[in-house]
Amino acid sequence: MPSIAQAGPQARQCHAELGKTGSLFAALPDRFYGAGCSNLNTVRLDGIGGDDTSFAVTNLGPLACPAANTLAGWARYGVDRAARQILGSPLARIETFGSYSCRNVAGTGRRSAHARAEAIDVSGFVLANGQRISVKDGWNASRREREFLRTVHESACKRFGTVLGPDYNAAHADHLHLEFGQGSYCR
Ligand SMILES: [Zn+2]
Repeated sequence: MPSIAQAGPQARQCHAELGKTGSLFAALPDRFYGAGCSNLNTVRLDGIGGDDTSFAVTNLGPLACPAANTLAGWARYGVDRAARQILGSPLARIETFGSYSCRNVAGTGRRSAHARAEAIDVSGFVLANGQRISVKDGWNASRREREFLRTVHESACKRFGTVLGPDYNAAHADHLHLEFGQGSYCR
């Protein structure tokens, strides 16, 4: 039977910070799935606050609240700014391959940050003018698309602990892996 736990002080603090970003979200109950897989202090992120609109996020799933906060900051100050400056249109939507997944880092016996809902796989971006830039097709596309994707990759590296993109390996050819945490592993 799922237990409904009261949000602790850390969770409440994180919810307050996420609320201040203007994002729309709902706190989710803590769940332990065993084998190093869990959802602790996760939220369902329904929209990210922007300057005067909000950005949709598709296919995300439960995301640890601190990772949601980091994602919100990146979306507004990294992605939206880059979209306006480089592509001439604000950000409307971030497309993802999801967040939580009970799995290992490929080729290792180590649990992935996805197993704690602390990583997001971003697959593309849709702008207010309808233009869609996917990581897979855009990474080596026109100069502007390339510049945009490299700029948002770089800004993600300033906020997330680990960022892996198409230049890292073939497994990341179609998405940016954004992982909450300390450090700055940027590939
Ligand atoms: Zn990933």
